[in-house]
Amino acid sequence: MEFDLIARIRDRASTRDDVVLGIGDDAALLQVPPGRQLVVAMDTLNAGVHFPANTAPADIGWKALAVNLSDLAAMGAEPAWCTLSLSLPGGDAGFVDGFLDGFLELSALHGVALVGGDTTRGPLSVCVTAHGLVQPGRALRRAGATPGDDVWVTGTPGDAAAALAALQAGAAVDRALRVRLDRPQPRLAAGRALAGLASACIDVSDGLLADLGHICAASGVGACIELDRLPASPALSRFRPELRWPWQATGGDDYELCFTAPAAHRDAVAAVLAATGDTAATRIGMIDTSAGVGAQRPDGAPWAPAMQGFRHF
Ligand code: ADP
Ligand code: MG
Repeated sequence: MEFDLIARIRDRASTRDDVVLGIGDDAALLQVPPGRQLVVAMDTLNAGVHFPANTAPADIGWKALAVNLSDLAAMGAEPAWCTLSLSLPGGDAGFVDGFLDGFLELSALHGVALVGGDTTRGPLSVCVTAHGLVQPGRALRRAGATPGDDVWVTGTPGDAAAALAALQAGAAVDRALRVRLDRPQPRLAAGRALAGLASACIDVSDGLLADLGHICAASGVGACIELDRLPASPALSRFRPELRWPWQATGGDDYELCFTAPAAHRDAVAAVLAATGDTAATRIGMIDTSAGVGAQRPDGAPWAPAMQGFRHF
């Protein structure tokens, strides 16, 4: 069954000119362009933990690649190749076909070649590595934020968490919100455009405050965000602020970019993002010298969420 499945994957896998040897040998051979650094990221999705058990195979495929491309986006890298480890309870060809529909739709959008992987029997779990390229010295990192820098977020965070909350409550899920949960858009063009402008960057997977906390820890600074600056999608705007703030500030799973930049770069940041046509970004707060990340209500009072973000353990 395993070889059957691998043949199905190989027959459909995307490729590119710099793949000297792709699926079918003991390892892939990839030609890294001279003068570029290789950027490598890996993320696993487990059924029931990282996606609801009833998620469509195509959506699982999309998301498995999207979360990895999002990590490359946060580094300011250009994606090139990926590998795929599939753990499947049965040799379900139908699942693999559906999974590939979503996975390969996204890989084609960003010119990423699937160059290898592993296929085993076990609980449903998908692990992807994504490989990207960056000019030496141009990668965005978590370290680098300075007191006085603006804090920005791309897009409109909170939709994925709102969809998940509805699902968990057994309520009807707004279609527009569900799409943000199942089909996150890795902000690759935005990440690349920000290289050289942003002082630090992270993708929002565990929650805005929690992930901004990682930037602060790595940079040795603090931050404060203003809740009334958080941009909300039309679908999310229907909820009153007290309800949507926790989704937006602590929900995660949006895969937007949270980044910092000197105030002197405000116009340049807006301009380069507009030029990509990818997504706009909104200033939501400031880096300061405090310890950790705080949030402020519109009246200036501090706001303490019940939970800072998704906890893995
Ligand atoms: P080996 O036993 O030498 O590791 P495998 O039988 O596991 O080889 O894999 C054969 C080929 O198929 C390899 O090139 C491997 O990278 C590729 N492959 C296996 N599973 C997958 C997968 N899920 N996605 C993409 N390529 C795969
Ligand atoms: Mg081998």
